[in-house]
Amino acid sequence: METPTRTIEQIRLACANDAELRNALQAADIVPLLMSLVHLTGQARWLDEAAPHIKGGWSFLATIPDEMQRRIREQLVLALKDVASGRSTPATISDELLTRMMHTSVGQTVPAEYNALFREETSFDHRDYKAVPWRKPVAPERLADFHTIIIGAGFSGLGMAIKLEESGIPYTIIEKNPNVGGTWLENRYPGCGVDTPCHFYSYSFAPNPEWSSFFAKRDEILRYIFDCAERYQLRKSIRFGEEVLSAAYDEKNSTWQVHTRTADGTEQDLTARVLITAVGALNRPAIPNIPGLEQFSGPAFHTACWDSNVDLTGKRVAMIGTGASGMQTGPSISGSVDRLTIFQRSPHWAIRHPLYHASVSEEVKWAIRHIPFYVSWFRFQLFWAASDGFHRTLQIDPTWSMPHLSINADNHRMREELVDYIKSKIGDRPDLLAKVIPNYPPFGKRMLRDNHWYDMLKRPNVELVTDKIDRIEANAVVTREGARHEVDVIVLATGFQASRMLGPIEVYGRHGKRLRDSWGDDDPRAYLGITIPDYPNFFMIYGPNTNLAHGGSAIFHSECQIRYVMEGIRELVEAGAKSIECRPGPFETYNAKVDRALSGMVWSHPAMTNWYKNKRGRVVMNSPWRLVDYRNLTEHLDPSDYAFERAG
Ligand code: NAP
Repeated sequence: METPTRTIEQIRLACANDAELRNALQAADIVPLLMSLVHLTGQARWLDEAAPHIKGGWSFLATIPDEMQRRIREQLVLALKDVASGRSTPATISDELLTRMMHTSVGQTVPAEYNALFREETSFDHRDYKAVPWRKPVAPERLADFHTIIIGAGFSGLGMAIKLEESGIPYTIIEKNPNVGGTWLENRYPGCGVDTPCHFYSYSFAPNPEWSSFFAKRDEILRYIFDCAERYQLRKSIRFGEEVLSAAYDEKNSTWQVHTRTADGTEQDLTARVLITAVGALNRPAIPNIPGLEQFSGPAFHTACWDSNVDLTGKRVAMIGTGASGMQTGPSISGSVDRLTIFQRSPHWAIRHPLYHASVSEEVKWAIRHIPFYVSWFRFQLFWAASDGFHRTLQIDPTWSMPHLSINADNHRMREELVDYIKSKIGDRPDLLAKVIPNYPPFGKRMLRDNHWYDMLKRPNVELVTDKIDRIEANAVVTREGARHEVDVIVLATGFQASRMLGPIEVYGRHGKRLRDSWGDDDPRAYLGITIPDYPNFFMIYGPNTNLAHGGSAIFHSECQIRYVMEGIRELVEAGAKSIECRPGPFETYNAKVDRALSGMVWSHPAMTNWYKNKRGRVVMNSPWRLVDYRNLTEHLDPSDYAFERAG
């Protein structure tokens, strides 16, 4: 395959200033540099030499000796200059070599089935492997008949819009907020940021070489989303400040009637051939049912509705909840408040990451921009380290002898490492230690990243209360043991109504069938998390059982769904059909498979609550699959899984 001109251009720019190039190489991670070298030269011998020194996907797990690092950097300079001067061209990487490179880059066996995922995910040759092109000519005027409504302008909705825009399919996004960004627009509590490394937590087709840190904070992520909305000119197609109240399928016309309300109360009906929900799962705050909460006389607000008008400086603050939002809020406010009283119902596991608070140096950003393949390999390493690399840790071993502590040998090893870490932080405080070590296996609840949580707990102005809350009074939180904690402000870090999927939107399918009647309050099901029988031309992004709880990026999953939806729309358009509808057979078979797989995974362990399960204990949020499995399941829409209604 011919090397894209963009890669050659990139290399010429990289070689334009020798000092800059060498500085960047010195600062950059050695493993992605090594992979760039192999990618440029095709010299696989480097892999054999480096392999014994690479023990995982994270950069800090590579211990390549200095002398070898020096040779890699030197050879890379020569290889780049050879290409820049036209003496050579970048090597063609065979599938076999690619598998070996993936394997070496993370120091673990990576099956060949990841090849396709690698090519799609890393944009290494600037090709869009996830594109769904038309297979036969489609007259643009015909596309007018396939107007699509997307609900939500967060990462998923915008990603969907970008692909519709590329295919020429007319669409409208309806967004309840005044701007794009979804959860990243709404959440602005102190310390808000992402736990997935952002060089992976970004669209595969829109890499951002400018991330200022490895785990970006909310404002920077929002800026990235704003940039994408501008770059792909999406704003013109978004109706801001308008909420979808209901959507009903019109069988006669095979269209969706979408009923909306704007901020000023005006209600409207819109019509579309296709309806796609991209409303997220974590944006309807769960307000705890604690007696007296409404009688509290001071400010009380949820982390997702942060009240920036309330100055917490010098205040006595209660924080209820210790999940991902609490983990970021608590340490961020503990230094300025007078007292922080944290009410913990159950502890969470939290893992240390050496780069969690690190920024990306200018030299590394330069390398990301200029060294071909560098960021592709970096992204793959992050993908592996943050997701599929430890999927086996979550599988219940039925013969495991300590099921109350852990679920298999790997999971137990992880537990011990986590406990050792906690002890290294607060081992001198047995009172705290007893409160914070969870009594359920790692990954039973969402794994958190330690945001100086344990350091915070040792602060003299911080108290961790594990007694149950009995009630809230005008100026205090009172526990069942009768302790009165006087506070000025209450922060509710109490999570979201995740399993009540699609929130308050009423969806009516064929024969007026109401989706909430099938799903109930919290029992959503869908084929691949995307389609449902009796709901033709209806697709969901981030639907049932698509949450990634072993790690990975929600954006990866939504891109899988977007491709699948695009294939569905392509079938519809190319077949000249009026509707496409999931058949009951595949739906039932798939959901049975999902339930079976999940029953053998950590989230069904009885020792903990989590937002993944519904009231009956069925895991309704999480995907049981590795990312590569879900990618394979959604790579192509199989028309035999669907019924088509022909036009005319
Ligand atoms: P969460 O994980 O559901 O945590 C809610 C917390 O509130 C838990 O500690 C829960 O205790 C507690 N709680 C709920 N009701 C309570 C009550 N009545 N009394 C006392 N405590 C109560 O919610 P979250 O922290 O907002 O996170 C939700 C999800 O959003 C995360 O799992 C993640 O997917 C996403 N998120 C991600 C990031 C990030 O990337 N860094 C940041 C924020 C959120 P129990 O554990 O005992 O139920």
